[in-house]
Amino acid sequence: MTAASKIAAAPVAQDKLRALGIMALNGMFDEMDALGVLRQAATELLAGDIAIVSSFGADSAVLLHLVAQVDPSMPVFFLETGKHFPETLAYVETLKRQLGLINVTALHPDPADLARFDPDGTLWETDPDSCCHIRKTEPLEPITEQFGGWVTGRKRFQTRERGVLPHFELTSDDRIKINPLAYFSDADVNAYKAEHGLPEHPLYAVGYKSIGCAPCTSIVAEGEDPRAGRWRGLNKKECGIHFDFNGAIAKPMAATAELKLFKDGAFTADPFRAWAEGDDPASVRYTHVPLPEFLAARDAFLANPHPLGLLVSSGDKVENVEGDLSRFASIAVRFPAFTDGRGYSTGRLLSERLGYGGELRAVGDVLQDQIPLMRRCGFNAFVVEHEPTRKALREGRLPEVSIFYQPVGTTEVPLGTRPYLRRAAPATR
Ligand code: SF4
Repeated sequence: MTAASKIAAAPVAQDKLRALGIMALNGMFDEMDALGVLRQAATELLAGDIAIVSSFGADSAVLLHLVAQVDPSMPVFFLETGKHFPETLAYVETLKRQLGLINVTALHPDPADLARFDPDGTLWETDPDSCCHIRKTEPLEPITEQFGGWVTGRKRFQTRERGVLPHFELTSDDRIKINPLAYFSDADVNAYKAEHGLPEHPLYAVGYKSIGCAPCTSIVAEGEDPRAGRWRGLNKKECGIHFDFNGAIAKPMAATAELKLFKDGAFTADPFRAWAEGDDPASVRYTHVPLPEFLAARDAFLANPHPLGLLVSSGDKVENVEGDLSRFASIAVRFPAFTDGRGYSTGRLLSERLGYGGELRAVGDVLQDQIPLMRRCGFNAFVVEHEPTRKALREGRLPEVSIFYQPVGTTEVPLGTRPYLRRAAPATR
C-alpha cells in the first residue's frame, strides 16, 4: 500500500472506529435507565458540551424533568417557529417555572428568510420541508456547532421509523445524539408524569398526543400512532432536525397529499374522518356520522364521550336531529353536484332557523364560484377536492357576490323589478 492510499483509507478507518465507539456506548448503557443515560452523557462523556432541544410538547415534561435533576442550568433550546399554539408558549413558561430550568433559550427563524421564502406564512401548506428548514433547521444550525452532543426526547414507540432508535447515535459531523427515553413506552411516559406530578400540556387532554406547530398538528384518534396527527395527510414524519446535524433535510417529499379543509382563511389539517362500516357508535371519535346511522343508534352516540360530527346528505331531514345538534362539533353537508342546490337550504336551515353555531362544512362538489354563496348560507368550512379552487383559495381569489336573486338573512335585498331595490350587498365574509 502506498503512502497516498494509506491517507485515502484513513477516513474510512476512522468512520469504522467511530461507529464501533457508538456501538460500544449503546452496549454499555443499554440496561441503564433514562436518568442514568442522561447523567452519564452530561457529566462524563460530554460534560459541559451538551444541549437539549425541546419542543415543549405533550411528552416534553419527562425529559425536562430528567434535565432538571441532572443540572437545571443545562442549555435547553426551544424552536420558536412562530407557528406554535398559544398553549405551547404558555406551557414553556409553566415548565420553566415548575422544574426550575434556568437556561432556556428560544430560537427564532431569521426574519430575512421569512420575508424571502414565507412572506405570507403559508409555506407549511405548499412546502412543509422548506418551512421546517427555515423555521427549525436553520435557527438550530449555529447552535449545533457549539456543542458536541444534543439530547432528544424521541422514543421507539412513537413511529415505525423510530422503532430501532438507540440511546446514542453518531451524526455525520461527528456529534453525538443522546436519546435517554428511547425505550420508554407510552405507558412509561404517563406513569412517569403521574409519579412526578408533571403538568400536562394543555392540549393533551383534548386529544393532541404529539404537539408541534399548530398548522401541522391535529388530534389523534384512539389506537392511532401518537404522531399520526403531525403533518396528517402528508408523506412527512420528521421536521428535519432529527435527520442529521448538517441540516440536510430538504429531501423532496415523495408524495404530497394536499390539505383539503379550508377554514378561517387557510387550509388546515382535518381532525375528522369519514364514518366506516363497522365503526362502533359508542366509541367512535372525530367522525362525521351519516344522519341515518346516527338516528339508528342515537342513544349510543349520545352516550359516546368523544367529539363527533354529523354528515347530512341530500334527502336527510336535519329537523329529525334538531334537539341533538349541540352534540356535534362539526356538521358536514354534502353537495353531490354543482347543480344540486339542496345543500344551501340545509345550511340556512341549520344556521338560521335551528341556530347551529358549530363548524358547518360543505363537502362534495365544492367549487370556487359556490363558496361565497355557501358562506352566505352559514358555511364556515369547506372540503375542497378541486385543485383550481384550492389554488384560488390559496391566492385569495374568490368572486364577489353583490346582487341577489334569492337573498338570505335580513341584510340582503333582492334583485327585483324595482330598480331602487337593487343594492350592492355588504362584502361577503
Ligand atoms: S411543523 Fe409545519 S409550521 Fe412548523 S415549521 Fe414545520 S411545516 Fe412549518
